[in-house]
Amino acid sequence: MRTQQKIVVIPLAVMLLVSTFTIVTIEQYLQSHLIERNVKELKLLATASLESVKTVEALESMADGHMDSHDESTEGAHADDGHNEDHIIQAFQRLAENFAHAGDFRVTYIDATGKVLGDSDITFDQLGYVENHADRPEVQAALKVGRGMSERFSETLNTSMMYVAVRSNEAHYTDENSSLAHPIIARVARSQDSVSEALHELREALFFTGGISLLVVLFLGLLGARVLNRAVSAEHQLLEKRVEARTIEISILQTLGGLLNACSTLEEAGEVMNSVIPKLLPELRGSISIIKSSRNRLDRITDWGGEWPGTERFSPSECWALRKGHQHFSTEHGIETYCRHWVETPDQQTLCIPLLAQGETIGVLHFIMPLDLKIDHYQGMWNAIAEQIGLTLANIQLRDSLREQAIRDPLTGLFNRRYMLEALDQAHSRAERTGSDIAVMMIDLDHFKLFNDNFGHDAGDHVLKAVSQALKDSLRQEDIACRYGGEEFCVVCPSTSELQAAQIAERICKSIRKLELSLNQLSLGTVTTSIGIAVYPHHAATMEDVIRIADEALYLAKQNGRDRAEIAVLTDNSVAEEQAKSVETA
Ligand code: GH3
Ligand code: MG
Ligand code: MG
Repeated sequence: MRTQQKIVVIPLAVMLLVSTFTIVTIEQYLQSHLIERNVKELKLLATASLESVKTVEALESMADGHMDSHDESTEGAHADDGHNEDHIIQAFQRLAENFAHAGDFRVTYIDATGKVLGDSDITFDQLGYVENHADRPEVQAALKVGRGMSERFSETLNTSMMYVAVRSNEAHYTDENSSLAHPIIARVARSQDSVSEALHELREALFFTGGISLLVVLFLGLLGARVLNRAVSAEHQLLEKRVEARTIEISILQTLGGLLNACSTLEEAGEVMNSVIPKLLPELRGSISIIKSSRNRLDRITDWGGEWPGTERFSPSECWALRKGHQHFSTEHGIETYCRHWVETPDQQTLCIPLLAQGETIGVLHFIMPLDLKIDHYQGMWNAIAEQIGLTLANIQLRDSLREQAIRDPLTGLFNRRYMLEALDQAHSRAERTGSDIAVMMIDLDHFKLFNDNFGHDAGDHVLKAVSQALKDSLRQEDIACRYGGEEFCVVCPSTSELQAAQIAERICKSIRKLELSLNQLSLGTVTTSIGIAVYPHHAATMEDVIRIADEALYLAKQNGRDRAEIAVLTDNSVAEEQAKSVETA
C-alpha cells in the first residue's frame, strides 16, 4: 500500500471502528435509559392507579354508578355471585378502564390470590375467564417486596410487554362478605414496541449521522491525500531537479579538479579556471591573484565574466581577506568595506577568499556578484572551488620549486650541468632542423685558487655569485648559462655565429673585469676570466665534441695570457667532419 493510501485508509478504518463503538455504546445507553424511564413511568402509573382505590366505599359508589348504566345481561350473569363481590369487581374493572383511557398502557387489578379484579384490555364479561395471575413474576415480587417488574412476550397481544406491579400497603377494603383476598396489586403494562420503535429511529439517526460523517471524512481524506500527493510529487520533482543540478555541479567540480591536477604551469591552470568556473557560477564574475615568492605582491593570473575592475597587481595589505585571514564580503551586515585593489568601487557586492594550502596563503579568489544574490546557495560551491584552486596552485608552485631545485645550482642560481646537457640536446635538434649555429663558451675564472687563498672561501663564493649575475646580465633570454663545475661556467647561445659569440664573450670578459667586488666592507679587488669558444656545426658535428673543443680553446686563452676569449682553431678532425658534412648535405 502506498503512503498516500495509508494516510487515508488507516485513519478511516480507525474512525469507522471508533464511530461503530460510539454508536453501539450510545444505543445501549439510550436503550437502558428508555427502559428505565418506561419502568419509572409504569411504576408511577401503577402507584397512581393504586392510589385511586382508596376505600371500599369509593369503589362501591363507583360500582353503583356503574351499575346504573350497566346493561341487564351483565347484571344477570353475576346474579349468583355475592352482590358485594360483583360490585367490587365491577368497580375495579371500571377503574382500570377509566385509568387506561389516559394513555397507551394496560391497567390490571389483582388480589393477593392472583385473581384478576379488573383489566382495561378486556371486558367485565371476559374477566371470569382470565387465568389466575399468581404465577406472574411481577405479581409474585409485588406480593413479596411491594413492587415487581418483568418483561415478556404476550401471546394474546403478540407483542413484548413490560409489566410493573405495585402492592397496596393497607387493605383498601375489608368486606367480610367478599372472598377477594387483600391486599390489592395494581399492575400497569405497556407494549415495548414504542421503545423498540424509538430505539430503531434512534439507531437510524445515529447510523445516518455516522455514515454522513464518515463520507465527509472520506471525501476530505481523499481530497487531502490528493493535495498531499500533488505537493509531494511537486517536492519530489524539485528535489530531483536539485539533485540533477547538484550532480552536474559535482561532475563539473571533478572535471575542474582533474584538469587542474594535470596542469603543470600557472598559465595552464588559469586557462582551465577561466573556462570551467563560469559554468559553475554563471552569475558571478571572478579572478585569481597569486602571491609572489617575495610575498609582498599579488599578480592577477586570470579573470572571467567580463572586464575586471580590479588592479593587475596589488600588495597583500590592500585586500581585507588577506588582512583578516578569512573571506571578506564588501557589504557584510550592511557595512560597506571595499578592498583597495579595486580600480573603481563596483556597484555590486564583492567577495575575496584567501587561497590556502598547507596552512599557507598562496593567493586570493575574487568574485563580483549581484547585491540580491542568495549567498547561502553559493557558499558551498565557492568554498569548494577555492579549496581546489588552492591545492592546485600549491602543487604547481611546489612542482616549480622542485624542478628549479633539480635544474639550478643553489649557489649561483645558474642552471646546472645536467640541465645544460638536456638543453644542448634540444638546441642541437632544433639547429639540425633549422640549419642554425650553436655557439658554446667554456668560461673559467683566472687564478681563482689564489683568490680563495687570499680572501677565503666565503669571499670566493661571493665572487662566484657576482660573476654569475654579471654573466646573466650579459646574455640574451634564449642563451643558457650554467655552472659547469667549481669556478667554471658554460654558456650555450643558440642561433649564434662564431663572430657573434666572440662579441658576447668580449662583453662577458669586460663586465666581469669591471666588477667591483667587496664583502663585509672589505674590498676584494677584481677578477678576470678566460673564455674558449666553439661553434656547432663549424667546429664539430656533436655537442660533446663542441664542448671539448671549446674547452681546448679555453686552455688556449689561459695560455695566451688569460682575461680573454679564444675561438677554437679548426683541427684536422673538425675540418674532415665539416667536409664530410658538406658532402652529406650536397
Ligand atoms: P687558472 O687561472 O689556471 O684557472 O687558475 P686557477 O687558480 O683558477 O686554477 P683552477 O681553475 O684549477 O682552480 C680552481 C679553484 O677554484 C680551486 C678552488 O679553490 C676554487 N674553487 C672551485 N670551486 C669553488 C667554489 O665552489 N667556491 C670557492 N670559493 N672556490 C672554488
Ligand atoms: Mg678551473
Ligand atoms: Mg680557474
